[in-house]
Amino acid sequence: MGAPGAGKGTQATGLAARYGVPAISTGDIFRANIKGQTPLGLKVKAIIDAGEYVPDEITEEIVADRLQQDDCQPGFLLDGFPRTLHQVHFLDEYLASHGGGLDAVVSLHVDPEALVARLLDRALKEGRADDNEDTIRRRMEVYAGQTAPLLMHYEAQGLLVEIDGTGTVEEVQRRMFEALDARAAAVGRPA
Ligand code: AMP
Repeated sequence: MGAPGAGKGTQATGLAARYGVPAISTGDIFRANIKGQTPLGLKVKAIIDAGEYVPDEITEEIVADRLQQDDCQPGFLLDGFPRTLHQVHFLDEYLASHGGGLDAVVSLHVDPEALVARLLDRALKEGRADDNEDTIRRRMEVYAGQTAPLLMHYEAQGLLVEIDGTGTVEEVQRRMFEALDARAAAVGRPA
């Protein structure tokens, strides 16, 4: 987890590569559908452009479909999901009914004003339709409001690993790997 611009996507890719599991980004799945003008893409485009969340039922169905694919057998890393308590409960139930569960929930922390600056820079480089200042601020508000109870849920389950997301990609990655290795050692699982 991490606010928009916290480096979530980049760190998710590095983390998934380290563990040899697929990184599943709901945002990327939505963007690919918007680009391909699929029925799903047409349905979610306006919502995403406005910086709001796609309805839970739609998002949950996409994740369930994706987790059933063969490459998720050894494990998976979710990037940008769950984002609501409804999605949290859906995921808990889905994994329990498939004999699994989460090993850790990583939360990246970065100062919000630094994030707005980072996102405006990304908007210039990548031209994402949801990367203008108003939408960015709306996405930050949505994120902060929706995420606090999720963090509490995972904290209570002992799954939360909080990481300082300031610094270079490599610095943040090193912090994250160290924290996850320490956690794996503490719970007696191979890193
Ligand atoms: P991201 O690339 O993760 O920042 O996601 C981009 C946008 O996709 C978000 O601002 C939401 O509109 C939508 N989105 C991605 N993941 C979810 C989710 N788990 N629940 C609802 N909407 C989502």
